[in-house]
Amino acid sequence: MIKRIEEIIRGIYLVGGPNVTLADDAAIYLIDFAGDLVLIDAGAGRSSRQIVRNVETLGFKPDSISHLILTHCHIDHIGSAPFFQDKYNTKIIIHELDAEPVETGDSIRTAANWYDTTFPPTKIDRRLKGAEEILKFGAEELHCLHTPGHTPGSISVYLDRDGKRVLFGQDIHGPFHKTFGSDIEDWKKSMQLLLDLNADILCEGHFGIFQPKEKVREYIERYLEEYE
Ligand SMILES: [Zn+2]
Ligand SMILES: [Zn+2]
Repeated sequence: MIKRIEEIIRGIYLVGGPNVTLADDAAIYLIDFAGDLVLIDAGAGRSSRQIVRNVETLGFKPDSISHLILTHCHIDHIGSAPFFQDKYNTKIIIHELDAEPVETGDSIRTAANWYDTTFPPTKIDRRLKGAEEILKFGAEELHCLHTPGHTPGSISVYLDRDGKRVLFGQDIHGPFHKTFGSDIEDWKKSMQLLLDLNADILCEGHFGIFQPKEKVREYIERYLEEYE
């Protein structure tokens, strides 16, 4: 198996995903805030130990992963959340509108049934509320924007580092399904919000990392055109 751990910009890494851990995993990103580590999403659940090894390969201690931010409640993004919570006391953060399926282990709303698996009910440590919450890590700010559409509680996360704006936008392409609680009109507004961010780098969930700015814009606009 090819394992391509990648440093995207200083202290921001791809540590999991189809070409890094297992094919079922959506992309998993690690942000190093001066030794305090934050994971964005957690794969489908079968690659927990490989994610840990990848974090160690980068020279970090997995018990420094203080927070795991879940971009939404789908199994390919939340699978290893219970593992990190149990083993490293990692705090799980998700938007309040996607919290319930995680806490009840709802196999339809987490899409676990699609993946022929189950997800154990898992306690959320912090529910994000409203349109935007800013999490502070040292002197840096991690912005969590509510971007509903794919699911009601989907979020996109961004931060500015070394003069670049890095946007984590998982499943911003959809897909849209009734059982997910998808809403196309909400999604269009969310995509406009993301375009307005003018991000330099898009760290996406299933299709890779896009840069520079123009490529990020093109990526989002291409999906918007499909749903004109
Ligand atoms: Zn999804
Ligand atoms: Zn996904």
